[in-house]
Amino acid sequence: MAETTASVRRLSSADAKRCDLYSGPTVIAPPENMKAPCDANGTATRLERARKSIDETASDRATPEVEQPDPSSTDKFALAFDIDGVLLKGGKALPESIGAMKYINGDNPPYIFVTNGGGKTEEERCIDLSRQLQMEVSPGQFICGHTPMREMAEAYQTVLVVGGEGEKCRVVAEDYGFKDVVTPGDIIKSKHDTTPFRKLTEEEYRNSRDRNFDETTIDAIFVFADSRDWAGDQQIILDLLMSKNGRLGTRSETFDEGPPIYFSHNDIVWSTSHEHSRLGMGALRTSIEALYKELTGKELTTVAFGKPHLGTFGFATRLLREWRKETYGIDQPPATVYFVGDTPESDIRGTNEYNQISDTDWFSILVKTGVYRDNKTPQYPPRKVCEDVMEAVKFAVQRELGEDQWELVEIPFWSLQRKEWTQSDPVPMNPSDLSLVGRLSK
Ligand SMILES: [Mg+2]
Repeated sequence: MAETTASVRRLSSADAKRCDLYSGPTVIAPPENMKAPCDANGTATRLERARKSIDETASDRATPEVEQPDPSSTDKFALAFDIDGVLLKGGKALPESIGAMKYINGDNPPYIFVTNGGGKTEEERCIDLSRQLQMEVSPGQFICGHTPMREMAEAYQTVLVVGGEGEKCRVVAEDYGFKDVVTPGDIIKSKHDTTPFRKLTEEEYRNSRDRNFDETTIDAIFVFADSRDWAGDQQIILDLLMSKNGRLGTRSETFDEGPPIYFSHNDIVWSTSHEHSRLGMGALRTSIEALYKELTGKELTTVAFGKPHLGTFGFATRLLREWRKETYGIDQPPATVYFVGDTPESDIRGTNEYNQISDTDWFSILVKTGVYRDNKTPQYPPRKVCEDVMEAVKFAVQRELGEDQWELVEIPFWSLQRKEWTQSDPVPMNPSDLSLVGRLSK
């Protein structure tokens, strides 16, 4: 018994590491609130329920004639969640989100996460999300704004990568296979008056790389994550856009020789813990386009990935297909994907437009916990408006299965591993070994 528990990995634990993502069996960690001390009566009740659950599990296996829930009933649909403003706000889980995940986490329909955010590797972000939502999130069910940029790594030799904390986005870009990654810090280090009011901190100076920009041609600009220094980053981006063939220090006479610029998404605002939405990467894009026009008299063509870009939804479709196949053994597309988001301009617009070209029914659900507030009609209307993510998952499950076919039950967390139960599995003697999940009613 001890061996079984020692070998499991829990990404939501405080000491989870990147290598844990790829080793050991998958388990669902018990929710944090179940680790809290409880009174003797509560413990006794939970133990009684646990024993009952084990008895039922064992007797189900021993007597195959007992009616089993139809395993295909949750195969017909899938869920996709935006993160900021739906599940998290200001880096913390919204209260409804942990309950919503429990609601679908037993006989769960497959689900993925599609966020425009970024700035870390997908693996790091999944470890964060596992902790925040008190559940397991695999890189196999996660897309962030810059994920599609991975497919562009072969196309360019030297690239400028903008945004994010410290060196993190350079690490992500190199991890994606970009061969030669330059940051604004490298440029400021080589020529400090590039940005008159921006000085590198000691750490930034140490991390920035020495190079001779007189001999460097920058082939493309990638804004991976939100800029931490708009003034400095805009100056450097505009210098390159107005250059001859991406060579810093030069100026094009025709202003059509600069490198292309790609943004990982185009959200003008996003939802944080502040009472009003904050400016996002789309605002930087708008600003760069306006400044370029002001300085050169020409229109700048930029490219943005992320939602509502249909390529991101195509990417999500491929990810969902693989996730369903590898984790659930389902080798056919779902009839319906419910997309739960808070931003009409990206989540709802993208879902509705992708639905026009997809064989699967992409069903848009707008929640009121993020960018969208109740006081205005959204420019891109969803097919359903819900108060929060809990109401959204209940709506989707009940629309698919009917009201009476789903219940919340407490079960041993190891029984969520989708494997056969054996006598050597740990018997839950502790409330922390139990997990509250939604399941098909028997
Ligand atoms: Mg959002």
